[in-house]
Amino acid sequence: MDHEAHLILGLHCPVVSGFPAALDRALSARCRAMQMLPYRRHGAAAAEDFEGFSRRRRRGGVKVLLIHSRFVPSLASSDPARRRRSIELLAGELTLAARWEAEGFVLHAGAYSPQETLDQGLRLAADAIVEASLMASKPVPLLLENVPGGGRRMGGGLEELAALVEAVAARRKDVFACLDTAHAWAAGYDVSGAEGMLRFLSRVHRLLGAQNVAAFHLNDSRALLGSHREDHARWGEGRLGLEGLRVLLGREEYAAAAGILETPPGPDDAAELSRLEALA
Ligand SMILES: [Zn+2]
Ligand SMILES: [Zn+2]
Repeated sequence: MDHEAHLILGLHCPVVSGFPAALDRALSARCRAMQMLPYRRHGAAAAEDFEGFSRRRRRGGVKVLLIHSRFVPSLASSDPARRRRSIELLAGELTLAARWEAEGFVLHAGAYSPQETLDQGLRLAADAIVEASLMASKPVPLLLENVPGGGRRMGGGLEELAALVEAVAARRKDVFACLDTAHAWAAGYDVSGAEGMLRFLSRVHRLLGAQNVAAFHLNDSRALLGSHREDHARWGEGRLGLEGLRVLLGREEYAAAAGILETPPGPDDAAELSRLEALA
């Protein structure tokens, strides 16, 4: 039906009350996609968490499960010990993502060290990501996310993100981009209106290719355009508004991509998702 959104829509579900509760939230909102962190702050997941989880989420119609990295990586640090530690943590998270039977693992590249150049930083981050994925038990598709940028943080600009995806893809299969609308806005891309979103997407097509974008994070933002600040808001409560989003949701080339809302839980998740479905 051409009046429906083309992205596979769903929610980021907090795991603070446990994994079954996170899944309950996705199921009660009738999500077709969900995102969660790989482990809780206190206590790892138990074997029985993994057991029932995949069966229940697939039966409930959640086609796409994304795991979002939970630690702040120093993958490009010039300090070998810190970088080594980050690689090991990432390998551990990737191993967990495979146990959750995730369709993808989302991560940020982090920042490079003051004594490095951007190019050196991108190379160190790419090397670290490849190494960690070789250490992990099973390959999970990697989704490298754009960030608000600023300072030495890598992946704010689409050129940087494309360079990183390319560097990892040269040595590993199944590497994609995940594009966050609030981060793009913070990095200076005006995706609020229809025209701005079209301009952004045509850059995405040129630099990354639509087939290499596996997910979008659909967030409004209270931060100022180009502020490099992150301040996710529910749609309609931020500065982006709905016009750019409408364009994105209508694009057929992203039919296989997930669209995840990372905003705080609202009173009615199902209604919010239906509102977005109807927007396209
Ligand atoms: Zn993220
Ligand atoms: Zn995001």
